[in-house]
Amino acid sequence: MEVIKTIKEMKEFSSQARGAQKTIAFVPTMGFFHEGHLSLMREGRRRGDLLILSLFVNPTQFGPNEDFENYPRDFIRDRKMAEEMAVDILFAPEVKEMYSPDHQTIVRVEKVTQNLCGKSRPTHFQGVSTIVLMLLEIVKPHVVIFGEKDYQQLITIQQMVKDLHMSVEVVGIPTLREPDGLAMSSRNSYLLPDERKAARALYRSLQRGKQLLQKGERRADQILHEVEGILEAEPLVRIDYVQVCDAHTLQDVNLIQGDVVIALAVYLGETRLIDNLVYQAF
Ligand code: AMP
Repeated sequence: MEVIKTIKEMKEFSSQARGAQKTIAFVPTMGFFHEGHLSLMREGRRRGDLLILSLFVNPTQFGPNEDFENYPRDFIRDRKMAEEMAVDILFAPEVKEMYSPDHQTIVRVEKVTQNLCGKSRPTHFQGVSTIVLMLLEIVKPHVVIFGEKDYQQLITIQQMVKDLHMSVEVVGIPTLREPDGLAMSSRNSYLLPDERKAARALYRSLQRGKQLLQKGERRADQILHEVEGILEAEPLVRIDYVQVCDAHTLQDVNLIQGDVVIALAVYLGETRLIDNLVYQAF
């Protein structure tokens, strides 16, 4: 595995690879790898002749009072894990390589970013779409792989790629979970033992939502009531939102039909966790 730190070298590598008719699969990450990241890498390995991974903690997707400075980082461990996953290139630029002091351009995807996490993190998704557009331009992949864990992010990138007629396939990968159901996340490392225990309620609440849908419940307010009830029963959990949305437009639904997502965000102490469940209702 080669580690590349400059945009120039990354672009040269990719244009040579494309010239040699190699298919490039790309997995963008912020590092501190867990099994969820590894499953994206496995998918990339399957889909590309070459697998490129980026590791970049992107400052513009963090709000002013969020955890950019404290975001967990362990480059040596991540590099070893990437190597073991047969990654070809680890692209790990410095912040100043990606954002010049004169940087002025932001990419904003409109409707799908306004609900859910967009409400409490109003500049988050423009940070995401801007960095992903930059990375796609530099890495020039044929396929880019994201996790469904960050469902609104996946939809936002799909919308951007569609709107801007970009030549890349966007693939979503199901959420990897701990044995007790908690979605894997680099931020789980922040949780204190009691908070970690209480965090089981997230998956449990979504499973209850799924059970209701399977039984034929189609009133979103009934589902929200029960999902919130399970979360509220945990004194350490503070709800940011729980919503039932159309799985494509991310607008709230009252009467459920078609593809829906139950999405939630909660705080456990200082730590904000998200999770979701996508369901096809007939
Ligand atoms: P991050 O490093 O947190 O920005 O995540 C990098 C990629 O891994 C994103 O596409 C995430 O959606 C994905 N990801 C994060 N957690 C999981 C998980 N538990 N299962 C599957 N994919 C995940």
